[in-house]
Amino acid sequence: MDRFMTRYEDLKRLKKTTLRSYARDLALTGLSLSASEKYLDKPRVQFLYIHHVFQDEEKRLDVLMRKLAKQHQFISYGDAIEKILSGIIDKPYITFSSDDGLKNNLRAAEILNEYNAKACFFINPGIVGETRFDKINSFCNEILDFPPVEFLNWDEVNKLQQWGHEIGSHTMMHMNIAKATPAQIADDMAQTYRILIEKCGGIKHFAFPYGRFFHFSEVGRKAVFDAGFSTCATAERGCHINPTAPLTNRELCIRRDHTVLGWDMRHIMYFLINNAKNASANNNLYPDTFK
Ligand SMILES: [Zn+2]
Repeated sequence: MDRFMTRYEDLKRLKKTTLRSYARDLALTGLSLSASEKYLDKPRVQFLYIHHVFQDEEKRLDVLMRKLAKQHQFISYGDAIEKILSGIIDKPYITFSSDDGLKNNLRAAEILNEYNAKACFFINPGIVGETRFDKINSFCNEILDFPPVEFLNWDEVNKLQQWGHEIGSHTMMHMNIAKATPAQIADDMAQTYRILIEKCGGIKHFAFPYGRFFHFSEVGRKAVFDAGFSTCATAERGCHINPTAPLTNRELCIRRDHTVLGWDMRHIMYFLINNAKNASANNNLYPDTFK
């Protein structure tokens, strides 16, 4: 094996199948058998978060895109947010994003380009362009809980922009906001905002690391907007339908479905069907603890 992980098969072998994940797979297969794809015709905005596209996942991304294209229109990340805020969700839309700035995001973007699907890539400026193996290894092991992988450099980040994709912030070094002090959060937000303005020319979007509500805080949410960002995303599952009352960008809680291309395709579709089936305008809002 290379020093850097390049294949999903190797990642799977490394993470090993636990009894719990085996049971989860079985349960999902059972659920997916009865999930009807007709729910996907429901007008809504679905955000997909694809973390990695390793070499052996590239074809699977293409298969997924072809499948999704049957019932959805692909729109850019920024346009997807506009649709929700203006309450004009008139058909099924899907947009894409990715976190952590893995170098294989470039391949993901090339495949998305073939479908004219424009994504947002959330990056950690503190690791962009890093080539020292020991630094990458400790960042991946200690912070991402992931084997060492290569990261994008600034030229590649700018290339994504030239292709029409957006760049967003994911904090300097993947901060767990729930565990940081208000001063650490404010400093990090200001620093990433400044660096991304300088390197990318403009910046609107933010996605907090790890993505679950318990990794975030009310202080964090306020700091995102105070620093100058206009949108904030989670990695909580769900889709968006038109709000029942006017909604501001600060109030919008963007939900994204974490999707691993190496998963059984039926399982990937099951999550989307389930989101559509249970779609609620409440999904647009944060839980009370974040207000
Ligand atoms: Zn992340």
